[in-house]
Amino acid sequence: MTKFIFVTGGVLSSLGKGIASASIGALLKSRGLKVSMLKFDPYINVDPGTMNPYQHGEVFVTRDGAETDLDLGHYERFVDIDLSSHNNVTTGQIYSAVIEKERRGEYLGGTIQVVPHITDEIQARVKKVAEKDRAEVVIIEIGGTVGDIESLPFLEAIRQFRLKMGRENTLFIHLTLLPYVKSSAELKTKPTQHSVGRLREIGIQPDLILCRTQIPLTSEARGKISLFCNVEQKDVIQAIDVDNIYEVPLRFDTEGLTDSILQKLGLSLPKRNLDSWRKWVEKVNNPHQEIRIAVVGKYVRMKDAYKSINEAFTHAEAANEVRVKVLWLEAEELEEDPPKYLSSVKGILVPGGFGPRGMEGKIRAIQYARKEKIPFLGICLGMQCATIEFARNVAGLKGANSTEFDPDTPHAVIDLLPEQRSIRDKGGTMRLGAYPCRLDSGSFSSQAYGKTLVYERHRHRYEFNNEYRRLFGQRGLRVAGVFPRKDLVEIVEISDHPWFVAVQFHPEFQSRPQSPHPLFRDFIKAAMK
Ligand code: GLN
Repeated sequence: MTKFIFVTGGVLSSLGKGIASASIGALLKSRGLKVSMLKFDPYINVDPGTMNPYQHGEVFVTRDGAETDLDLGHYERFVDIDLSSHNNVTTGQIYSAVIEKERRGEYLGGTIQVVPHITDEIQARVKKVAEKDRAEVVIIEIGGTVGDIESLPFLEAIRQFRLKMGRENTLFIHLTLLPYVKSSAELKTKPTQHSVGRLREIGIQPDLILCRTQIPLTSEARGKISLFCNVEQKDVIQAIDVDNIYEVPLRFDTEGLTDSILQKLGLSLPKRNLDSWRKWVEKVNNPHQEIRIAVVGKYVRMKDAYKSINEAFTHAEAANEVRVKVLWLEAEELEEDPPKYLSSVKGILVPGGFGPRGMEGKIRAIQYARKEKIPFLGICLGMQCATIEFARNVAGLKGANSTEFDPDTPHAVIDLLPEQRSIRDKGGTMRLGAYPCRLDSGSFSSQAYGKTLVYERHRHRYEFNNEYRRLFGQRGLRVAGVFPRKDLVEIVEISDHPWFVAVQFHPEFQSRPQSPHPLFRDFIKAAMK
């Protein structure tokens, strides 16, 4: 019998529900359980793929090519599992499925309603995760905040789910905020009381309350929450602010969260020590030196837009025992005078992106990295920009561009493949998910990976134009990796350089704490030299 843990959020958004859920996953896995995760997103988009990063933050791509919420990235990194499209479900998907069934006549004669049709579909998605992933525990995070109109059908569905599956097989965990009021030097519990009140109105009594707080939870606050929210004192768990998100599971475990969850679910599993996790966190927190790396992008004001890149840096920090100070630079600002911004950095990364804004600034930054021999990592659009920069400034192809930015360019060094040209729909139609990449021996990449065939995740429409391969090769831009079946260029490198690697895929999605991505690890290593 699978056990189901539902995590809801109260008071306000951005309390770290994703990290909390991922941490619970990591802790239960550490006790030997097979864990899977599910994120419900209450918006009507079918997936976040069509959303602007300012709206949503990063779109995380799974191995099977689903465009998902960035919390799936946290789940994969913390629990160390690969997730798929069924692990992220939106209101849009639920409604599409129900409406399709209605059109097929599966409910013939009936009136289709939120209860029971939508709520049944939601519950079916929870069970599907348990079955497909053969999980002993599924942790289900409900996006949004209790009290939102959009989350109501999900909350109603999980209330019903507990009724059907039994108390011993389900658990409700609620994450709230205890604001600290300086003038009275007090942690305030009223918002928590209100949000738990809202939950109880719908018929959900939380079993455990996670209290996000700046200062240690006082016994007074704990007592009040216990009394007013109807949970035992030991089930009011402190979730104190930390500098390093990877400390969260360690803190939760010390607070007794793992034991409490297991006991409530009727599972008795021996304590395991979390020493290797703890040692890893200590490594990140105690670096031997510090370097500055510039990330030249378009959405740098929105930190969530580059979540996985940020995490991949953290993993590379531990591997190299170094602190990476990231300078997030707005690409447009670099159009004028790149050295002004870049002279102090030891490495430059140009991440993925869409649309022309900032393009020329990225190209200037890449030119600077190439000429000044500063280690460079280009990702997706970053690789395309590196190709354009090389075409214009080394191969002498004036006006070279991607047809994404200039459909009439005389040198379309980045272009659509014929099969992409006929596609009109925007949602889910890019080259998505994992593809094999064969590496050229003797390249920076093959040295980093230590093997010749790797799988990496993609999310793009445009490709390197093979017509220019030979010319670029003669001028010093080597093709270091290809997708064999279609002979698509996946990696380009400049050999006459300390470390210049540009990849069409997104390495950041596969970096994990205990297995840092080889390209990030070697990029940082090269930057330290
Ligand atoms: N806009 C480019 C493309 O569609 C790159 C996409 C990306 O960087 N993820 O090919």
